[in-house]
Amino acid sequence: MANPVVRCTVDECAHYKAGDQCMAAQISVYNQGETGHSRDRQDTQCKSFHSRKTVGDLVGSLHNANVMGTVTAAFMDGTQITPNVECFVNNCHHWETNNRCRAESIQVSGPNAGKTDDTDCETFSPK
Ligand code: SF4
Ligand code: SF4
Repeated sequence: MANPVVRCTVDECAHYKAGDQCMAAQISVYNQGETGHSRDRQDTQCKSFHSRKTVGDLVGSLHNANVMGTVTAAFMDGTQITPNVECFVNNCHHWETNNRCRAESIQVSGPNAGKTDDTDCETFSPK
């Protein structure tokens, strides 16, 4: 089943790893919270974002840690680790049934992100 490679520049997230990698086991991409729709990429968000600023947030992120990915990355420098992706942005060109993303790769961004709304799926493309 298709699953995109995730590239992410959100270095405020507890799941971020140098090299623009995401070490979460799974990420969930959502529409804009208030409207429930996405007209452009700024409306999308990575709901799996966890701020690395507080101990509570770091502990809260552990349930979603990609343990095997972390071990693999530690022993195989340069290995691209990627989480399972589920996405609820069903008006995206890359969206497919069962909340899957058929893009080869996605780019997540969010400079100085402090909450999930501050993050975006840059690969969003409206149908
Ligand atoms: S913001 Fe999302 S994609 Fe980026 S590191 Fe965090 S969980 Fe992974
Ligand atoms: S590219 Fe589209 S379908 Fe894929 S994760 Fe981003 S918003 Fe969802």
